[in-house]
Amino acid sequence: MRTDLVVIGAGPAGLAASLAASARGAGVVLVDGATETGGQFYRQPAARLGAGRPEALHHRWRTWERLRDGLAASAVRVLTDHHVWCVERTPGGFTVHALLGPEQEEPAEVHADAVLLATGGYEHVLPFPGWTLPGVVTAGGAQAMLKGALVVPGRRAVVAGTGPLLLPVATGLAAAGVEVAALVESAAPGRLARHGPALAGKLPEGAVYAVRLLRHGVPFLARHTVVRAHGDDRLTGVTVAALDATGRVRPGSERHLPCDTLAVSHGMLAHTDLAEGLGCRLDGHTVAVDSEQRTDVPGVWAAGEATGIGGAALALAEGHIAGCSAAARLHGTEPTPAPAALKARTGLRKTAAALASAYAPPAHWPEQVTDDTVVCRCEEVTAGAVRDALDLGAGDARTVKLLTRAGMGWCQGRMCGTAVAGLAGCPPTPSRRPFARPVPLGVLARPHPQEGLS
Ligand SMILES: Cc1cc2nc3c(=O)[nH]c(=O)nc-3n(C[C@H](O)[C@H](O)[C@H](O)COP(=O)(O)OP(=O)(O)OC[C@H]3O[C@@H](n4cnc5c(N)ncnc54)[C@H](O)[C@@H]3O)c2cc1C
Repeated sequence: MRTDLVVIGAGPAGLAASLAASARGAGVVLVDGATETGGQFYRQPAARLGAGRPEALHHRWRTWERLRDGLAASAVRVLTDHHVWCVERTPGGFTVHALLGPEQEEPAEVHADAVLLATGGYEHVLPFPGWTLPGVVTAGGAQAMLKGALVVPGRRAVVAGTGPLLLPVATGLAAAGVEVAALVESAAPGRLARHGPALAGKLPEGAVYAVRLLRHGVPFLARHTVVRAHGDDRLTGVTVAALDATGRVRPGSERHLPCDTLAVSHGMLAHTDLAEGLGCRLDGHTVAVDSEQRTDVPGVWAAGEATGIGGAALALAEGHIAGCSAAARLHGTEPTPAPAALKARTGLRKTAAALASAYAPPAHWPEQVTDDTVVCRCEEVTAGAVRDALDLGAGDARTVKLLTRAGMGWCQGRMCGTAVAGLAGCPPTPSRRPFARPVPLGVLARPHPQEGLS
């Protein structure tokens, strides 16, 4: 299949980009690994579940309806269940390599003049004793179970970590009938207050969540952290403790909260694998883009959380700007994005920067990680093994990896990379993975690339 523009990722950014580019005359193919469009924010329940009121689990539903109906009325060709493992620069454009089918072993390709990466982000979870017990899930995972499968992860939950995502997760679980024993947020309220003007636009949303927490009787423990999850073969409770001003646990402040679910998150990380494979420059851990959302590789745009964690509204604005730019540049004209999108992007990026600074994980989290805590779950490498590697002279995450295998497993360090770097006391480095997904050898060894996806 050949098209003008292939958009990878059908979340808010990819949907807005596809609609903008298509409305401006570009042929667009929108590819996503999920079975439905919507991305993380507008995750939809499977049709077979027959959800009567899916909007009850969402906010900004009207925006979703506008995107969904716009897509249905557009000329955009949507390919769901297509997991992109690599984008290759080819003469005259790009080839997007995907895997489809239940086993993700069937290869498919899309050829395009330009590529727009809207691959979003994933959750960041730091290790602590007991975090591998069944019953410990990511906060977004709990949210995904609720929105996508209409199930709750347990009966009595603690929601913990840091970041704005904890609020919709705690209120969503409580509204679905889960007893939420506490929302444990490691950030101090004072840090939010310090960013007053930049966060003013978020106040009404924050107030709505505060009212919902009160209504459901959810205790809010600010400047607290989970220091241990307990249980033999599944979670039975957690120990939480207060943090001092430096981010250290206050001795003697520990208390036990019985629960069968711990939904935990320490923020989000951008999906940058495809961009890195194309040679795009990163800005820290996100894809660097210019004012039109162009990367430094000609013909490659990026939008949404791949370019910085900032929420669905920012993803929509960036997607629109990127889609306008891609269509215009493909036709050799100047882009004309909606002024409202440009204004929204400026304001929302300031808000995102303020939130990132206010919600950083506790500075001294490695002190709570006991030697027997598994850090790399794929290769079952413990914190003790990482510390042994440091004793042997390892001074960076890559050398720790060579000595311990941490980061060499199925997820290729996506989950443990920041934790290993934190334990090693060095900044995390992008890992430059050649493929965004595991690929069967049979697909790599194919004698000829397959054409067509129909
Ligand atoms: C688990 C989770 C739960 C969240 N819950 C909330 C919430 O409750 N409230 C809130 O305000 N914000 C929430 N967020 C944040 C919010 O979802 C994002 O701000 C917003 O969705 C960003 O939009 P996006 O288009 O950039 O990315 P996303 O919505 O993440 O969309 C990216 C899309 O790209 C696809 N994709 C990625 N890589 C590939 C690939 N290699 N091949 C094919 N497809 C690919 C994914 O399947 C996904 O559909 C959540 C985020 C996560 C990760």
